[in-house]
Amino acid sequence: MSHTPSRQDFDHYMTPNYAPQQVIPVRGEGSRLWDQQGSEYIDFAGGIAVNSLGHCHPVLVNALKEQGEKLWHLSNVFTNEPALKLAKTLTERTFADKVFLCSSGGEANEAALKLARRWAVDHHGEHKDKIISFHQSFHGRTFFTVSVGGQPKYSQGFGPVPGSILHANFNDLESVRELVGDDTCAIMVEPMQGEGGIVPATQEFLQGLRDLCDDHNALLIFDEVQTGVGRSGELYAYKNFGITPDILTSAKSLGGGFPVGAMLTTDAIAKSLAIGTHGSTYGGNALASAVALAAVEFIDTPEVLGGVKKRHDLFREHLETINRKYGVFKEIRGMGLLIGAQMSEAYEGRAKDILPLAIEEGLMALIAGPNVLRMAPSLVIPEADIAEGMARLERAIERLVAAA
Ligand SMILES: *Cc1c(COP(=O)(O)O)cnc(C)c1O
Repeated sequence: MSHTPSRQDFDHYMTPNYAPQQVIPVRGEGSRLWDQQGSEYIDFAGGIAVNSLGHCHPVLVNALKEQGEKLWHLSNVFTNEPALKLAKTLTERTFADKVFLCSSGGEANEAALKLARRWAVDHHGEHKDKIISFHQSFHGRTFFTVSVGGQPKYSQGFGPVPGSILHANFNDLESVRELVGDDTCAIMVEPMQGEGGIVPATQEFLQGLRDLCDDHNALLIFDEVQTGVGRSGELYAYKNFGITPDILTSAKSLGGGFPVGAMLTTDAIAKSLAIGTHGSTYGGNALASAVALAAVEFIDTPEVLGGVKKRHDLFREHLETINRKYGVFKEIRGMGLLIGAQMSEAYEGRAKDILPLAIEEGLMALIAGPNVLRMAPSLVIPEADIAEGMARLERAIERLVAAA
């Protein structure tokens, strides 16, 4: 008899570095999911800002099926048509001239940081090695990216960390001025901190970083792994600010659920990634590239991007209505369909307590740190699903408040 996997199997067979919820979803369609028992959920989590077109969107399913019957993988000993088309379309739609393809956000950031270091060595010398990033930032889990990230709990306890990494305060230009100098190689920043609590950068801050980089011959790297590919209401969030980075990284929404990442840069900087300097076996994988190409072409249209902005307003209105009744939130913020609701003083640190209650009510949501309820739904979530999801969220919050 075949064994039906259970949540207990997780504890038996998988490394204990996650603590997944008790239910196991087995099927998804659009913004709805069903678990092993057939219970239905509305998905405001979107696989942590990954399922940009919900679950099993026909455009992505078709791209996967078509490519799946043609060619999956070659390695970078050969190039392939989907990878070439994806790279071309990303350069045509952004500031970038060149694209490095890989399989995750951490890998895209690792490439960006290594490129920045190599560029500095090529043009200025070994001494120009300082990387400035920000407290509370998140850039991935490889040892370099987790060290550049501003959450020490993720990088401590693994022995010596890579050096020449400095952390300033987000949205505080003065704290950057204190660290920046001619030995600064790059500044890495999320245009809106995601894991750090859904905190948008201010216009002045990003402009100030751009100016500091220009003044000190340093590279400005935007980590758009979470904000990219329509999430902010533009293809990339930098377009909302009108401030252009030197290097941009993308993943999450890029594949709509298929693992893929990309690092974008200019011709001049890309020269430092000469033959043999960097690589990835799966980078530019044909299946991944075909799905990402379909996702970018579908999302980067006035209809979808305009729809994201419209849905942002709907999310905000619903959350404000809930808050007028229960007073659980101090602030509702975010861009596009990456929305955070910071808990009020009375519910300080209790964002995570909402999640299991929401699941019982049939809603999947996220947190961003202990104090922020986060939503990163499908960019095309139907309005009826937003309304029903919010009704379920309200019931969860009513229970949180009643138990207090
Ligand atoms: C999720 C995330 C990453 C890491 O991406 P992975 O695909 O998990 O490696 C990096 N930067 C930001 C801003 C993220 O949100």
